Amino acid sequence: LVVLEGVNKHFGALHVLQDIDLTIGHGEVVVVIGPSGSGKSTLCRAINRLEAIDTGSISIDGKPLPAEGRELARLRADVGMVFQSFNLFAHMTVLDNVTIGQVKVRRTPKAAAVDKARELLDRVGLSSQAAKFPAQLSGGQQQRVAIARALAMDPKVMLFDEPTSALDPEMINEVLEVMRQLADDGMTMIVVTHEMGFARSAANRVVFMADGRVVEVATPDRFFSNPRTDRAKDFLSKVL
Ligand code: ATP
Ligand code: MG
Repeated sequence: LVVLEGVNKHFGALHVLQDIDLTIGHGEVVVVIGPSGSGKSTLCRAINRLEAIDTGSISIDGKPLPAEGRELARLRADVGMVFQSFNLFAHMTVLDNVTIGQVKVRRTPKAAAVDKARELLDRVGLSSQAAKFPAQLSGGQQQRVAIARALAMDPKVMLFDEPTSALDPEMINEVLEVMRQLADDGMTMIVVTHEMGFARSAANRVVFMADGRVVEVATPDRFFSNPRTDRAKDFLSKVL
């Protein structure tokens, strides 16, 4: 579904993505881990075309990423993205946050969009919060709204970049639980996280990045019990 071939990206002299080849199948859950600065966020942003790449190609469903215009807006809708900071529209209610993209980008009639938004808010456990504004919600609730908002676009794939890193500990699980449910429902997901428990239990594959490279790709069982590279062993000794 998502295919990266020979992807390279520089920030000035910094070679932040180096010869990345990666294929993510339909319904697959790939967890990306690695030290700070290894290029995980840049990888996510490249897949959503928030960053342009220098060389190589990225395609989704067989189609190369569009560079601009309406095609790009559609791509952004096809690739749902959830960030560490929740990025909700502060001046809109929760319900409107989950409705607006459907109307503006997908051209869904308002009534149908509202119905769907309510259904999704129910799915993430927030049906009673629809009329509130983001600032009136906890971090975990805001992040679940962000997930519902992305899902409202019927994305082909969901990208999560450290979705729980900004949350208080007691709110981490409610967000991971929604993500786990999504994985069980067959959503294709790319998840950057430091939550190794989530990686173990929800990932089909773990991608370990270091210094802009994909250093290891393995099942979570294999990766956590028997990492092949010294970089991965060293990383795991620090986070486990
Ligand atoms: P973290 O775990 O801290 O989130 P990461 O693996 O997500 O790290 P990236 O954010 O992808 O790492 O950054 C990779 C490298 O690229 C870092 O050295 C970072 O400083 C650099 N970098 C990221 N964005 C930019 C930018 N817009 N301009 C210049 N350098 C950047
Ligand atoms: Mg990052």
